[in-house]
Amino acid sequence: MTDLPYDGLVTNRLRDRTAVITGGASGIGLATARRLAHEGARVVIADICPDGTGNDLAAGIGGRFFRADVTSAGDVQAMFAFAQETFGSIDIAFNNAGISPEDDASILDTGIEAWRRVQEVNLTSVYYCCKYVIPYMQAQGKGSIINTASFVAVLGAATSQISYSASKGGVLSMSRELGVEFARQGIRVNALCPGPVNTPLLRELFASDAEKAQRRLVHVPLGRFAEPDELAAAVAFLASDDSSFITASQFLVDGGITGAYVTPL
Ligand code: NAD
Repeated sequence: MTDLPYDGLVTNRLRDRTAVITGGASGIGLATARRLAHEGARVVIADICPDGTGNDLAAGIGGRFFRADVTSAGDVQAMFAFAQETFGSIDIAFNNAGISPEDDASILDTGIEAWRRVQEVNLTSVYYCCKYVIPYMQAQGKGSIINTASFVAVLGAATSQISYSASKGGVLSMSRELGVEFARQGIRVNALCPGPVNTPLLRELFASDAEKAQRRLVHVPLGRFAEPDELAAAVAFLASDDSSFITASQFLVDGGITGAYVTPL
């Protein structure tokens, strides 16, 4: 296992658990795949990336890659069947794949095609993933589902991405409802709500338009954007028994944005 960056941290919280991570080949998903593997989990990285990339990433953490488009019910069913057949259980589902394309902006400029594409990838995918993983977890009498929403599920932005924000609001309320419905069957469902994360897209924005970037940064009390590893740490907690009394939650990992009025200079 060469790709695990957690030399100083030794824990076996997730030993003998199987995790399926959608959008696991990049960003928050990849950081989480590495973190969960480091904590002992058997990880299936699911993504639409090329097989070569996915296989290399999975090999680096002793896991497996499964090529799946989360907008396809058939792919999602096959993905969970693969995880069950390969590892014998599905204990953790991190339903995380998502997009935020440029043609999703103000409602006045966003066409129906862009609207629908974002809803399919960000929201309908979570419907499929939950619908098809819950029966495995019911059979086991346990499981932890973490769905990636966003801080824009709870805050409005003047720099609108209307379909994205609406999709994340949907993820948040779907997660809450499922958390309540399945609570007594041992299945916990939480919505991870990341604040802005230091991704290539964001770094590009900083490089190309410092003023636009600053407009966002000023709202973050911690004075910086999150690193993907900081989200991964939160997912590992939600996946583990350390969070055994947390379900149906809006789990904010946002550097304080949603709690702030005036931020420090
Ligand atoms: P990313 O672009 O780095 O990774 C997303 C991954 O999803 C990619 O590997 C991509 O190939 C995969 N993917 C896209 N469409 C797919 C599909 N149809 N089927 C399967 N896989 C697909 O993104 P990220 O920044 O790590 O974001 C991960 C999640 O976190 C998303 O749901 C995003 O909306 C959410 N989020 C991100 C931020 C941020 O600032 N980056 C903030 C809040 C929430």
